[in-house]
Amino acid sequence: MADNPKIPFASSEVEMPHGQARAMGVSTSLDTNGNGGNDRKRDRIDVAPRFTPTDVIRLNNLFRGQDAAEVVASVIGAGLLGETAIVSSFGAESAVLLHLISRVAPDMPVLFLDTGKHFPETLAYRDELTARLGLNLVNLSPDPEDLAKKDATELRWSYDPDGCCEIRKVRPLEKAMANFDASITGRKGFQSSTRTGLPRFELDGSTGRLKFNPLANWSREDLDAYFEAHGLPRHPLEAEGYPSIGCSPCTSKVKPGEDPRSGRWRGWDKTECGIHESVVSPIDDDPANDPAF
Ligand code: SF4
Repeated sequence: MADNPKIPFASSEVEMPHGQARAMGVSTSLDTNGNGGNDRKRDRIDVAPRFTPTDVIRLNNLFRGQDAAEVVASVIGAGLLGETAIVSSFGAESAVLLHLISRVAPDMPVLFLDTGKHFPETLAYRDELTARLGLNLVNLSPDPEDLAKKDATELRWSYDPDGCCEIRKVRPLEKAMANFDASITGRKGFQSSTRTGLPRFELDGSTGRLKFNPLANWSREDLDAYFEAHGLPRHPLEAEGYPSIGCSPCTSKVKPGEDPRSGRWRGWDKTECGIHESVVSPIDDDPANDPAF
């Protein structure tokens, strides 16, 4: 990242991730002499990844210990993420993230995977929050050809949930995210053992996109307090024993003492739908592990 331009940030300077540089139309290409100077520029296709592991470590370190609202305001205000969308399931705790972001970036697209398998209560909650917070909602539907070829019976969830999620969630999101450098998610570390240690910033698989998880270290109590403080409506199914809400065939009630996400794909060896991965080796944001530049 040595050739990335520097931008002023708070009281210090940070180097701009590739995605941000591109989003702002700043060339990070070297000139023909390879020195980044003012000599003749040449056109070339920018194949650099949007963000690198080093960018992610730096972002985690830069904002360590800061309040979620401050981090949101800082990274969005400074345009550090490039072109960004929120990905929301409009589930049990989604209102917190949506409220937090909409106060800073009211026009940011909110991508909703309209799988065709949601509870009617979720769709009503989506519409209620969209109207109340003035969200820029974008519904993403599965490709009709994919559905006809691979899930004509509409029952793929019952024998191949990975394949069903691939058609109804993974592919539509991949297609939509081609236009973005980063996504913002509402995941929390406390939700399950497979999300423990979730970092605030992470790389999105091998795409070079950034995932920003502002609520990564929030507790149940933090969320409850935020709902209360801002008078946000609850998902109607939460009170009926659903602390984590996805598609209706794959969501069941959770007993006291169980992980909040244990009602998802119950009975299957499946914990994520494919648009997120389990946290197996959290990014170590200990400054002692900062790369040397
Ligand atoms: S959560 Fe269930 S119904 Fe929804 S896309 Fe995945 S397998 Fe299909």
